[in-house]
Amino acid sequence: MRTQVCIIGGGPSGLLLSQLLHLAGIDSVVLERRTRDYVLGRIRAGVLESGTVDLLRRAKVGDRMDKQGIVDEGIVVAGETHGFRIDIKALTGKSMMVWGQTEITQDLYDAREAMGGTVIHEAEAVKPHEMDTDAPFVTYYKDGAEHRIDCDWIAGCDGFHGVSRKSIPRSVLKEYERVYPFGWLGILSETPPVTHEILYASHSRGFALASLRNENLSRYYVQVPQGEPVENWSDDRFWDEFKARIPGDLAEKLITGPAIEKSIAPLRSYAAEPMRWGRMFLVGDAAHIVPPTGAKGLNLAASDVHYLFEALKAHYLDKDDSGIEDYAQKAAARVWQAMRFSWWFTTVMHQFPDQSGFDRRMQESEITLLETSKAAQAAMAELYVGAPY
Ligand SMILES: Cc1cc2nc3c(=O)[nH]c(=O)nc-3n(C[C@H](O)[C@H](O)[C@H](O)COP(=O)(O)OP(=O)(O)OC[C@H]3O[C@@H](n4cnc5c(N)ncnc54)[C@H](O)[C@@H]3O)c2cc1C
Repeated sequence: MRTQVCIIGGGPSGLLLSQLLHLAGIDSVVLERRTRDYVLGRIRAGVLESGTVDLLRRAKVGDRMDKQGIVDEGIVVAGETHGFRIDIKALTGKSMMVWGQTEITQDLYDAREAMGGTVIHEAEAVKPHEMDTDAPFVTYYKDGAEHRIDCDWIAGCDGFHGVSRKSIPRSVLKEYERVYPFGWLGILSETPPVTHEILYASHSRGFALASLRNENLSRYYVQVPQGEPVENWSDDRFWDEFKARIPGDLAEKLITGPAIEKSIAPLRSYAAEPMRWGRMFLVGDAAHIVPPTGAKGLNLAASDVHYLFEALKAHYLDKDDSGIEDYAQKAAARVWQAMRFSWWFTTVMHQFPDQSGFDRRMQESEITLLETSKAAQAAMAELYVGAPY
């Protein structure tokens, strides 16, 4: 088989890139190692920056989002005793959209199918070859037979555990990492959200977050120690702990119910550079991971896709390779800004096991600054809503 762009990974990055390329008349094949149902079953991100919202509309997968997504114009930050609102819309002129990653992936799969796009599921042992030559290709196994796809470019959209990044020589790849000594225990419950804006609560018992998917679907998290087994958390234990960490007025009106999904995600900051090796590009989680505190993971994947799509479009349609040359530097510059924001917000809001009284006072002072200073709120709002592409 031959294609112009071979995309490894059928998560949000790979599907969105393939969809945008298709609309520009550029051919691609997506290789995904899992089934479609498995990919759609992953409960992950939910808050979209305005740039991501625009990109989804541009990819013609924005209709359902515009009808059913919830426009989010502010966030609530809480310390030990009370919460306060940061008016993102008033401070930046932009708003966010609450629309789940599962819904985005569903719409992207439907759009790829409707347009006759090639997405090969259960592709095993996918391997990129000859990326440092002008004739790269990708091999994989399906139904016991080996297949080969020749291409002009390879897009490594295969997430943190994928094969693309690992194919870059160790002598070339630079990795930067911070692993946090805690994780997030998250539950999804078919109950009305306790607040219609996302609540970030920094409590001495640990961090808690209240978010929502729709009027009757809530996503709540509490910080738990690293390595904590999810089996240790009955629904009742979760609700008791969650209530203890959020401001009293909200705890009083919280409606609880059975968890329809419960899982623990570790928190880490990670970046690999360069984001391009010869004719292979790294996109999204394949190149970087941020802790979910700033809601940046999926949004960074979308901005990488934007830069790569523009670069490939200019290459094929305008014979202009400047975007290809600039991709790694442009994408990484935006990644590092979001990386800093996510690290800062994580550090301010969570309890660290070795934290001193002084450290807690510093956290409280940061939160007071956010509550009382319009300048501090404006700086945060600008980063939260996302830098323009
Ligand atoms: C538990 C969890 C919670 C999260 N919560 C948030 C959140 O609240 N907010 C936020 O912004 N972000 C969140 N994220 C991050 C966000 O989900 C990711 O940034 C986003 O999924 C990145 O998309 P991607 O397509 O780059 O990677 P992925 O979604 O990881 O997709 C990669 C795809 O590649 C496939 N693949 C992997 N290896 C291979 C291979 N060898 N061959 C072929 N295919 C392969 C995988 O099966 C997968 O479908 C969360 C992530 C996790 C894990």
